[in-house]
Amino acid sequence: PLLAATDLVAGYVPGVDILGGCDLVVHPGELVGIIGPNGAGKSTLLKALFGLVTIRSGTVVLKGEDITNHRADSLVRRGVGFVPQNNNVFPSLTIEENLQMGVFQAPKIFADRFAFIVDLFPTLGDRRRQRAGSLSGGERQMVAMARALMMDPSVLLLDEPSAGLSPVRQDETFIRTRKINRAGVSVVIVEQNARRCLQICDRAYVLDQGRNAYSGPGRELMHDPKVIELYLGTLATDVEG
Ligand code: ADP
Ligand code: MG
Ligand code: MG
Repeated sequence: PLLAATDLVAGYVPGVDILGGCDLVVHPGELVGIIGPNGAGKSTLLKALFGLVTIRSGTVVLKGEDITNHRADSLVRRGVGFVPQNNNVFPSLTIEENLQMGVFQAPKIFADRFAFIVDLFPTLGDRRRQRAGSLSGGERQMVAMARALMMDPSVLLLDEPSAGLSPVRQDETFIRTRKINRAGVSVVIVEQNARRCLQICDRAYVLDQGRNAYSGPGRELMHDPKVIELYLGTLATDVEG
């Protein structure tokens, strides 16, 4: 596999493990979903993969190299991209300047990467001199994804990219994620919109209480009674408040 996390145990406070033995495998070109109830440890898993939460035991291997507990800058150089939840743009900078913040390489490489991104998201090219502060939530999310893509990641980790967006903008975010994946970037997407996530993913994991509860092809999980039960429970609580 491209990325393999095995039996990860991780947490924030000594003595309290939030991840209690998580596994995650990403094959080249795959779009992998992670869903699960609020507090299951989805964000913690992504942060652990990106060196922001200490891994107490278990291993993360990227392209055959052990990257367990590497720092974020080392991970970025090795091809891991991360778009945290509720990330933001630099509002007073233009779109183009925001993307320059995402790359610490030569101008030539910036130009090549910018061309790749404009090809994916033509809007960003058309509006490159517009201040990011004037963009809508969905557009800011696109800039944040594009910024992570500037470093040419092999695998892009997205934490709830559709959070806080209107249904139409959420849909655009899923389509955009699929597009990034089709352009050759492996993607791990954490989502609270489980149904939509399972629809676009090749494979998905259901996390519950810091462990993998279920995994399988997205479309199979969607019809799995155990997954539906876990989800209907959460959904009902969410709706009722
Ligand atoms: P999810 O993304 O699945 O909703 P999280 O990974 O954010 O879940 O959180 C899992 C658990 O870790 C929760 O119990 C949460 O309270 C705890 N947690 C999250 N962030 C921190 C933090 N910075 N310090 C301590 N505990 C945290
Ligand atoms: Mg949450
Ligand atoms: Mg989360």
